[in-house]
Amino acid sequence: MPGLELARSGVVMPTYQYACTACDHQFEAIQSFSDDSLTICPECKGEIRKVYTAVGVVFKGSGFYKTDSIKSTPAATPTTAPATAPAPKAD
Ligand SMILES: [Zn+2]
Repeated sequence: MPGLELARSGVVMPTYQYACTACDHQFEAIQSFSDDSLTICPECKGEIRKVYTAVGVVFKGSGFYKTDSIKSTPAATPTTAPATAPAPKAD
């Protein structure tokens, strides 16, 4: 699942859309993948359900795209070191 690794590091959190079946109250909840789904309406304590939109899970925060671009750019990898260090010029 895309973004799972990033969510673990705390860079980005998925946002879920919920709707109450009792009072029709709708709200978003930011949860990590390891969190349990919400079941109680904060307004009336009624039963709520997850709302699956076209996008499903919305990732908020610029860190998601920034990290992704770094991942796919070899030049930005800090572990890339020259195979041989340039020899110092002897005078
Ligand atoms: Zn409710």
